This record gives sequence, C-alpha cells and structure tokens, in this order.
Amino acid sequence: MSSTLAQRLADVDARIADAARSAGRDPAELTRIVVTKFHPAQLVVDLAALGVRDVGENRQQEITAERAELADLDGVRWHFIGQVQTKKARAVRAASDAVHSVDRDRLADALHAADPDGNPLDVCVQVNLTDDPGRGGVAPAGTARLAEHIAARCPSLRLRGVMAVAPLGEAPAAAFTRLAASADAVRAVVPDAAWISAGMSGDFAEAIAAGATHLRIGTAITGARPAHG
Ligand SMILES: *Cc1c(COP(=O)(O)O)cnc(C)c1O
Repeated sequence: MSSTLAQRLADVDARIADAARSAGRDPAELTRIVVTKFHPAQLVVDLAALGVRDVGENRQQEITAERAELADLDGVRWHFIGQVQTKKARAVRAASDAVHSVDRDRLADALHAADPDGNPLDVCVQVNLTDDPGRGGVAPAGTARLAEHIAARCPSLRLRGVMAVAPLGEAPAAAFTRLAASADAVRAVVPDAAWISAGMSGDFAEAIAAGATHLRIGTAITGARPAHG
C-alpha cells in the first residue's frame, strides 16, 4: 500500500521536529522547502492545499512555466536551488522569490541588473563542499569575498546566508560543519544573513544538528521523481 502525499509530508515534518528537539532547537525556526522539480505543476497545487508555503525548483524553464501556469496560486514562495546560467538570470529572477545558488560575481551582477530597482530578491551564496571545482558553488575560501561583492555592488539583492549540498562519500555532519564556518564568514560581512540552506531527504537531521535553517526536501515528501532527460 503506498503512502499518500499528506502522510509523507506529516511524517517528514514529525522527523524534522524530532531532529530539532534532539538538537535543542525550536522546530518553528526551520523552513521546510518541498522540492518539486520534474513534477507537474499540479503537485504544487496539491502541496499548497496541504498548507505548504515554500517550494523549490532547480531548472529555469520549469519554474518559469509553472509560475505562469499557477499565476492564481497565492501564498507560495518559490525558491530557486539549481545552477543558473548567467544569460538566464533575468528569467530566474522574474520567477523566483529566493535564489539559493549564487556562486559567482557575474551571476550576482546579472540578477541585480535584471531588476535593479525592483523588490529585493533574497539570495544565498552557494558553497561547494566538494573537491571538484566543476560542482556548483564557490569554494569555502571565496565565500566572504563573494558576500562582500553582493553587499557592495548588488543593492537589489538581499543576502540571506549560505546554501550547500553535502558531498557523496563523506559523512554529512562533517560537511555541514564546514558549511557552518562559511555561514559565519558571510555573517561577518552581513550580520543578519542567517540562513543556512542545507539538508535533503537523506540528511536533513544532520543538517538540523549543524544549524540549518532552510531544509530542501524532495523525494521523502513527493515520492520518486518522474523520469527526465
Ligand atoms: C533535488 C534537490 C534537493 C532535494 O533532494 P531529495 O534528495 O529529493 O530530497 C535538494 N537540494 C537541491 C539543490 C536539489 O537539487
């Protein structure tokens, strides 16, 4: 018998609350983002009906299309969590309430230039916790400098904190400890940039223990993603 979306959501939320209490934290200070990538827009409608207020997407074409399709859906915040090509910055900004994956000056500049006098866009600096420079994210050593660039040069972006994905082949707790150091480095530049966007279906308890504020949870809530090309 397969579980329903409502059951999986309730189960994950109970596990989030347990992990928060184990870490001596208040579950109310955590934002649970449901990652709906590759699923049809109807999933966002179904989640909203269950009270979900934050959803995450990682492809520009998909978030743009879904926001157009769901233009009448109020009260949902759309988080962009994927790599962004600089030439897609304008479209990403237009479709997103927050962009977690700012990893270079040129992308920050392009997001700012897309709407320099518009409503501030919440952004995070994505930190690459792997040894592979080809992965998304700025190296930990470059985090503070990128934060300084955003703060000084991109007034329409509101720097909120850091984001990362734990590398495969390493205990997530160790990776999230490194991310906490990058979060401190960003807060030294922008003191109220307190978001730590970390934790996915397989490692959100470790992320909560390491101070995560924004959890990005897909399959544990949505079930398996549809096949994609
Ligand atoms: C897909 C994705 C997630 C969610 O992953 P699950 O393992 O399905 O929970 C979180 N963060 C990013 C950046 C992703 O691309």
